[in-house]
Amino acid sequence: MTGQRLRVVVIGAGLAGLTAAVELAAAGADVVVLEARDRVGGRMHGVEVADGVVADGGAAYLGVQHTELLRLIGRHGMRLASTGMVGDSTFLVGNQRMTTAGRVPPLDPIALGDIFDKLEDLVDLVRPDAPWLTPGAAHLDRLSAASWLADEIQRPDAKTFFPLFLGEMMAADPAAISVLHMAFYLRSGGGIQYLNAFEGGAQQWRIDGGAHLLCEALAAQLGDRVQLRHPVRAIDQDGDGVDVLSVSETDGAWSVHRADRVVVAIPPLLAQRIEFRPGLPAPRATTATGKGCAVKVQLGFPAPLWRELGLSGWSVSTGGPLLSTVDDSPPDGSAGVLTGFVTGEEATAFSRLSPPDKLAAALAHTRKLFPSLPAPAQCTVTDWLAEKYSQGCYAALFGPGDWLRLGPTLTEPHGRVHWAGTETSLEFFGLMEGAIRSGNRVAAELTVIASGADDSRKVLAR
Ligand code: FAD
Repeated sequence: MTGQRLRVVVIGAGLAGLTAAVELAAAGADVVVLEARDRVGGRMHGVEVADGVVADGGAAYLGVQHTELLRLIGRHGMRLASTGMVGDSTFLVGNQRMTTAGRVPPLDPIALGDIFDKLEDLVDLVRPDAPWLTPGAAHLDRLSAASWLADEIQRPDAKTFFPLFLGEMMAADPAAISVLHMAFYLRSGGGIQYLNAFEGGAQQWRIDGGAHLLCEALAAQLGDRVQLRHPVRAIDQDGDGVDVLSVSETDGAWSVHRADRVVVAIPPLLAQRIEFRPGLPAPRATTATGKGCAVKVQLGFPAPLWRELGLSGWSVSTGGPLLSTVDDSPPDGSAGVLTGFVTGEEATAFSRLSPPDKLAAALAHTRKLFPSLPAPAQCTVTDWLAEKYSQGCYAALFGPGDWLRLGPTLTEPHGRVHWAGTETSLEFFGLMEGAIRSGNRVAAELTVIASGADDSRKVLAR
């Protein structure tokens, strides 16, 4: 290998894989990125929601704590769009519609205070650097969030609110996640208040034009080193290197890429499906690991018409499908875009509907929420449960037992195989920020290895 550049195959052209690839290429590595889809970006995906208007069908929001993301946005000269919330919120509690100034649903404030206090206690308890070492981790990891709710919370309004909150924060059905995962996710994302807030919180901005543009900009730096429609099926290691086997979705032909190191930057449920030879010493996912359940419904209007009615476009409903809506209109007001979130159990049921039934259900709900608005000119549904190469969103859900089983080895290399992806990041797990941090971490990992293993590769040690 003396005199050769480190050859790295990165699997997955999402934000994590692209970040790692760009960093490694800049440090002198010979990088190839293999991507299963016919586009880059993974869970960051632009969809046309009105004539010439592209909105975020996947990830959208960011805030001041997302420092690596902000740095990358700045480096690529991209602009932020503010998610200003001017006007009243709309609430649909049962069949009763009301509009008020606050953003929290008009449920019993004592019940909501109680649930937030109990959640804060859990968030304070969890160890963000090693959730599996949290005091009482075995118990918290065994218990589902649904059982915790049944045991801890008595007030009916709190029981109504909890699944809405977990749906909005984590796209999770409370039955599908452990209490440890819930507490860790809320802590890792910057705390309940930050995660939940628009102004000053994790929803303060969007990337103008769509978050996918960031991935496209990273991919442009790599040029033809990114190979689309190349799902990886197997990874074989021997004493000298590693073979990555992919099958072209264009012509079904197999290809083998020989490398010194591999970075697997795909969600855990998909990593678990790759055949590793030798096999993995610890799983990447278990039967308890779930798909995040989120469907985005985007309604396109000629302009943000709700603003003229004194409404912000923000709504919360206690029944589905659109459990919440938010104004995602372009900053120049050239169109009105309302994004509806279908999450948790509602998303599972909604995803099973036929496309016309999805549309009909979404439009009927919109009429109930905003009876004075005309019908939208366009309605776009992005169903992440049906996405073969995501297996749910916003992120994988760690079910009972998962943190203790998967946590300690999330980032542990398997020989020449290294791990990235938002689900390997203990900081901002599940978010774009987590994806970037995981990409930076793995690039640094390979840089150190390369510089120590072979003097000729010191080019990697910047
Ligand atoms: P991915 O984006 O999943 O990238 C993995 C890539 O690997 C994909 O391109 C996939 O096609 C590819 N792949 C999979 N299997 C294979 C294989 N076998 N071979 C080759 N390639 C493969 N985050 C925020 O910060 N703010 C938000 O507001 C937000 N909202 C969200 C809303 C929705 C609806 C969704 C879907 C996500 C949201 N997220 C949000 C989460 C955010 O999108 C993710 O955290 C981030 O994009 C994950 O990046 P990643 O690179 O880790 O994974």
